[in-house]
Amino acid sequence: MIRIDCPSCGGRDEVEFAYRGDATVVRPAGDAGEEAFHDFVYRRANPRGWHVEWWYHQAGCRQFLKVVRHTMTHEVHAVARAGDRVEVPAAEHTGVPAAEHKGVPAA
Ligand SMILES: [Zn+2]
Repeated sequence: MIRIDCPSCGGRDEVEFAYRGDATVVRPAGDAGEEAFHDFVYRRANPRGWHVEWWYHQAGCRQFLKVVRHTMTHEVHAVARAGDRVEVPAAEHTGVPAAEHKGVPAA
């Protein structure tokens, strides 16, 4: 269970939220070309570590939030309103040694 500390509502369980995607993707300029828009719509990284994501508080204040979540441990580092900046920790410990993860070879 992920616990998200909404700036308006306080700490809530993830069941009140809807994941809305990668918050690091930037829309290309209008004249950027078909391939740039293809990448914008369909291509996503699958990072291992800290990731900035959009979460929608659908059962609460109905705001979009930026959540910095660790993709391996689901730890939430920071939560901010959509227009605010969030601090992303440097890539470091994953909380779980890579060798202990099933199906993920040690780096
Ligand atoms: Zn809220």
